[in-house]
Formats: sequence, C-alpha cells, structure tokens
Amino acid sequence: MDKCVVCGSECEFKSNPATDIFEFNCGNCGGKFKIFDRAADRIKDVFGEDRYKISSFINEMILRNDINPLIFEDKSNIDKALKDITYDFSDIKDNFPKTVTDILDRILLNIYKKTPVPGDNVKIPYDRSNDSKPYPFFYSKYTREAFFI
Ligand SMILES: [Zn+2]
Repeated sequence: MDKCVVCGSECEFKSNPATDIFEFNCGNCGGKFKIFDRAADRIKDVFGEDRYKISSFINEMILRNDINPLIFEDKSNIDKALKDITYDFSDIKDNFPKTVTDILDRILLNIYKKTPVPGDNVKIPYDRSNDSKPYPFFYSKYTREAFFI
C-alpha cells in the first residue's frame, strides 16, 4: 500500500509518467483525487501543518459536488478550458471555512449530504486509532480537534 500525499493514510496510488499526474484513492480524504506531481512535492512547504485543509477540500468536493478534484500548485498559467475543472492551492486556502460557525455550517452540509432520507441515521467516518491524521469531514487537523467542534 502507498501513502496519501495529503494525509499520510494508506491508500491506492497510480502515477502516469506521460502526464506528470498522480492519482490517489484515499479513504480518509474521501475518495479519488489527482494531483500534479510538482504540486504534490510542494504540499509540505506551502501548507505544512495545514495539510488537513487540502484533505477537507478533497472530501467536500467528492461528498458534496461529486467532483474528483485535479489539484495544481498554481493554475494561472494553465489552459483556460482546464481552469473550471482544476483547483490550485489558493482555491483550497480560499475555500476553507474562516470561523468556527462557518465550520459548523459546512459540517451540517456534509451530514445532510450523507443522509439519504431526513431522519435516517448518519454514518460518519471515524478512526480513533490514529489521532495524527486529518479529520476532513469535520475540517479538523486531528480527531481530538473534531471532538472539540
Ligand atoms: Zn488522504
């Protein structure tokens, strides 16, 4: 098993040397996403401890918008036709909720998306065995932060 470049969880990984794009299928981040190899190399430098924001972004795109994001570091120089279906680091930073209230609103939207019929029980992904992983469903750096929220 390979490790997710964003959250470090074990996941499926494919690389395609012809396109310089890595493909991950990470259960913790919420599913499949693609990332340009240079962006993958820069995650630690640009986001550092805030890598959970990328994980939250991926989770939200897949869960709420049915989009498996393709992530660049900076998409300002890419083809205009691709701009609508790609995301870059500034999109991810801009998209992250700014306040605890914003986070709570977004969590409610996530729960809503997971509820097929109002009133049904909701299964929320949860792994108590590892507190060092991001908890993207709750926009949290760690599980204990998610419990606080
Ligand atoms: Zn991940």
